[in-house]
Amino acid sequence: FFRPIEKINAVLEVYPKGVAGFRSYLELLATEPDIVDRPEAVELPPLTHEIRYENVSFHYGGGRPVLQNIDLTIHAGETVAFVGPSGAGKTTICSLLPRFYEPTGGRITIDGTDVRDVTLASLRRQIGIVQQDVFLFAGTLRDNVAYGRLGAGEADIVDAVKRARLDHVVNALPNGLDTVIGERGVKLSGGQKQRLAIARIFLKDPPILILDEATSALDTETEREIQLSLAALSEGRTTLMIAHRLATIRDADRIVVVTPEGIAEEGRHADLVAARGIYRRLHDTQFAGVS
Ligand code: ATP
Repeated sequence: FFRPIEKINAVLEVYPKGVAGFRSYLELLATEPDIVDRPEAVELPPLTHEIRYENVSFHYGGGRPVLQNIDLTIHAGETVAFVGPSGAGKTTICSLLPRFYEPTGGRITIDGTDVRDVTLASLRRQIGIVQQDVFLFAGTLRDNVAYGRLGAGEADIVDAVKRARLDHVVNALPNGLDTVIGERGVKLSGGQKQRLAIARIFLKDPPILILDEATSALDTETEREIQLSLAALSEGRTTLMIAHRLATIRDADRIVVVTPEGIAEEGRHADLVAARGIYRRLHDTQFAGVS
């Protein structure tokens, strides 16, 4: 029973629905049999310097090019927000890092090592992914959090729950962490599920994060709580964020503006606003009236 879960656990905390967003590991196993360890694959040591996209191009199947000649360096500890029109390739850029897909041209390196030369397990252990759709299974809250790192001790689970600001939820339930969730148990709200996903990643403790910010509306209070949890989660980690919210974008160390033609602009919020280019236009239309 546990073996397949362990396998999935090395990869993803959160599963997607539909084509948009990240694909599930099992789905990929079924459809992308080419992405396997090379015979001479090595263990990837924890990121210390930088992630580099070198002249990366990509297209899905026989489709049109989605990415062309992308060059990008992300320094360890940096938070990079990807913004740009829908369909520009923000999610695709992030999907290439855990090797859900492989570049059709160029390469991606972590501290100089091509990600195709390392074991998938050691690569994906370093990456935590938070996205809108959270995969939950029928079981206790504890089991669902522990899915972030199977075999984690009680103290670590409790700590992850606290850091993700899920403790208020747990404490309000009569059975606490023993509460059964899912169809036959307690139903969690969207915001609670998000915090559970964040708790899993605190437990996994990867050096690299990929955050796919929710576009769907949560109430302001919940959204603020989640923002705080995510900010705590990304502290000390290298973060790639598919960003939709102004607050997150403003606070990023760097904003990368992705368009169907490629990376159009890079910089901090204030600099990009001052540059009066694409970001400024996106910003003025998307966030009109938002401060
Ligand atoms: P959004 O802001 O809407 O999430 P995005 O900038 O993240 O968009 P991607 O999801 O990376 O864009 O999509 C880039 C292009 O690749 C789009 O034209 C999309 O339709 C296409 N695409 C994405 N995933 C797949 C897939 N699995 N198979 C085929 N085409 C895909």
